[in-house]
Amino acid sequence: MATATFPKKPPSPNNAYVVAHVEPTPATQVYLPEIFKGLAVAMRHFFRNTKEMVRNERPDPVTESIAQGITTISYPEQKRPYPERFRGLHRLTQRDDGSPRCVACLCCSTACPAQCIFIEAGEYPEGDPRRGYERYPVKFVIDELRCIFCGYCVEACPCDAIRMDTGLHAVPYDSREQFIYRKDLLLAQASRDGSHLTANPRHEPGDETHPGVTREHMTH
Ligand code: SF4
Ligand code: SF4
Repeated sequence: MATATFPKKPPSPNNAYVVAHVEPTPATQVYLPEIFKGLAVAMRHFFRNTKEMVRNERPDPVTESIAQGITTISYPEQKRPYPERFRGLHRLTQRDDGSPRCVACLCCSTACPAQCIFIEAGEYPEGDPRRGYERYPVKFVIDELRCIFCGYCVEACPCDAIRMDTGLHAVPYDSREQFIYRKDLLLAQASRDGSHLTANPRHEPGDETHPGVTREHMTH
């Protein structure tokens, strides 16, 4: 059986459908009648609901909420406690000697969908047992204004070096620069309990429990 063939339509620009153009007329350009119609509907509901509430034919939501106890709080004098897993502003955790736990592996910046983490890696100086094992962040910058607080950076970090357990939310600064959190500020941020360390420390090079290769192994 012969099948009908149809001429292909040329692709429309931006892959959009062509919509019939309607010439503007006074009837389509004047919005006041529609506005008054909407107001009339709103006022009709307002007076009917008020009348029914006065006649006790309908519950009054305001008096009901007062009877149940008002649940509003006087923010910012009163604040609701954030849940335990609230993702607040970032901090970089410290080792016992105050140095960053971060080894500048770039996992967090790679995982960050907002691309708001910048890290410049450096080598520890000669004589430091960490030289050759791991690097450290010479620069570690987070643009908290661009961050979407997804927590991927925390999940990606193999060292528990970056956390969002400060319990702090971003406050409304008046310049972009104030949202740029650099290494020193990130290291100075504390967790909710005031600690700069982590409850989940990893084994350090030189530590007997360190599971990786030792410097002696590396000489063979
Ligand atoms: S919370 Fe998400 S968006 Fe913010 S720095 Fe971490 S990975 Fe990037
Ligand atoms: S914070 Fe963690 S994931 Fe990010 S560079 Fe440092 S060690 Fe790697």
